[in-house]
Amino acid sequence: MVIRAYRSILADLQAWGYEVRIAWWGQGFSKDNPDIDELATGAEITYITTGEFLALAGDVETYAPSDRLQHWEHSFSTHKFVHDSSGTGTFKSHDAGRTDYEKSIYVTNDRRNVAVPTLETWADLESRHGGLTIDGQGKTRRAKPGDTIMTAANCSRVSAHNQARSMGIDGEQICLTCPLLNACRNSQGDGYGFRFERKEALIHSRFKAHPASLPDPEDFDYSEFRLIIDEVGTMPFTEQITADRDAITNLIVDLGDRGSSTYRVAQTN
Ligand code: SF4
Repeated sequence: MVIRAYRSILADLQAWGYEVRIAWWGQGFSKDNPDIDELATGAEITYITTGEFLALAGDVETYAPSDRLQHWEHSFSTHKFVHDSSGTGTFKSHDAGRTDYEKSIYVTNDRRNVAVPTLETWADLESRHGGLTIDGQGKTRRAKPGDTIMTAANCSRVSAHNQARSMGIDGEQICLTCPLLNACRNSQGDGYGFRFERKEALIHSRFKAHPASLPDPEDFDYSEFRLIIDEVGTMPFTEQITADRDAITNLIVDLGDRGSSTYRVAQTN
């Protein structure tokens, strides 16, 4: 039971982007061994990885490469979070694309350049962009001024949305005042179509997404979905925003007006 709690805490910390190391002084898992504040002066303390910690607790399982998918399914039958710590180059992404689990989201920092054949058929949850280009390494990137545009912009107000995002403001008003809103909802063209692309992708039961593009849990039912997170340690699960006192006051008023659950949580903290 205690190990299950440790595992859950460690999974949360890793999901939030923390790289966790655990102090180890040979404490084992017995109450008879000293706590850290009971150690003699000068006692040796080392730092171990979460994988090493769970292995010491007997909570790590190994499997043959050919058994990966069966092993994942078995693990998910008893665990909410499963961390596959197999090394790079062991085809985890390839196998993720072969999963039989129907509702799956492959979350990755570089969605546009996933070069795994088994994931090619998964839909793409495209993010808002002002045009895409191909860089010198053959990778698809957001175009900068002067780049050759290979894919037309899917939004004509990207900078306004970026600005709102950097301030932690919901950009919906930017869309609601956009003269292309109707076209953007129903079709694609140069400078619009983000909303249409997103709606189409979210119909699918399997899609690839950047973590920042994942839908708000208030708008999307995740209950039957499984998230397969690539390189979880590199995920930006938190972001820094800049806001002055007026912006915060306006936000509180706005949240209060909407009766948002976020506002109720903020009130209680
Ligand atoms: S409606 Fe479409 S084009 Fe207009 S701001 Fe929103 S995403 Fe951009």
